[in-house]
Amino acid sequence: MNLSDKADDAVAKEECVMELATAVYKPSGKLGTALVLVPVAGLVSALVLGIAYGFINVYNPLIYIEVLATFFFGLLIGIAVAHTAVFAKCRNPAFAALMGAVCGAAGLYFGWAVFIFALIQRYGGVQGPTLVDCLINPLQDWNFVANTLAPNGWFTLFGATPSGVLLWAIWCAEAAIIVGASGFYAYTTIEEKVFCETCAGWCALKKDVARADGKKDLTLLPRLQAGDLAAMNELPPPKPGAASYFRLDHQLCEKCGNMGTYKLFEVTEGKDKDGKTETKEKELTGHMLLSAESAQQLGPLLARGKFLKAAAPAAGDAAGSQFPGPQAPGAPLPPKEKS
Ligand SMILES: [Zn+2]
Repeated sequence: MNLSDKADDAVAKEECVMELATAVYKPSGKLGTALVLVPVAGLVSALVLGIAYGFINVYNPLIYIEVLATFFFGLLIGIAVAHTAVFAKCRNPAFAALMGAVCGAAGLYFGWAVFIFALIQRYGGVQGPTLVDCLINPLQDWNFVANTLAPNGWFTLFGATPSGVLLWAIWCAEAAIIVGASGFYAYTTIEEKVFCETCAGWCALKKDVARADGKKDLTLLPRLQAGDLAAMNELPPPKPGAASYFRLDHQLCEKCGNMGTYKLFEVTEGKDKDGKTETKEKELTGHMLLSAESAQQLGPLLARGKFLKAAAPAAGDAAGSQFPGPQAPGAPLPPKEKS
């Protein structure tokens, strides 16, 4: 094959792709004012929440509350980072994820420092370090944790006092939950949004604007996954009360009306073990850009979208973990009973 054949081939391939698939929205990657605003807001949130978290670890007697506190601690830092990133017009999901993880890690550090301070205050029986000491001396904190707390443990759970490797494993799980929840929340928040570069603003999301009975004709699935809205129009609406259907969401710039995307989901509603309604959704497409052609297809879909009311999406599960904590320098800790 000579060069010109190759070129023809490439053109043909490109035409084929253009015909089949609509373009997928790619965020510009621009940071807006996020480079300044996100670290500031994220670190302030990490400090404030870390203080609360450190004291909860020392004074809360219920393991159940501690597991929830760990998860919500990470989540709240992630929410602070994500919302600041949205405000700052950050169109870079990777940067949001990084900031979420970094601020989550900072929160974890602040939480530990406050925990060490509060634990020594409560159980130490000696003049312990001040809160500021604990916050600015990571090495001293580390020595205390590694040499006093880890070998002895500091709380009792189901009649045992975790120490050594088990305690380190619990601490690692705790750290992973906090950093992971924060990073993940920040990432998905920015990844799910669509920005109009012309108007320098976010598009407005409208969820569940149309539904279709996706299983009616599975041969249409490849076209649907390529973002072909005509294929969605070829499917009937789902029967009322159907447990499984395809759902269309779309985002549109409300200023210019020229920038928009849509996204298709496969939704399955079922009951969990406790008989509660559980909704699972699977993305069939990315953010497909609205073209003049697909905009024409959207009209009829919106018109018939009045069918049925959607159930709220099920909340994610918090992974379980327990926590950490230190104890008084020197003195063996009075094990704390957790129920
Ligand atoms: Zn616009």
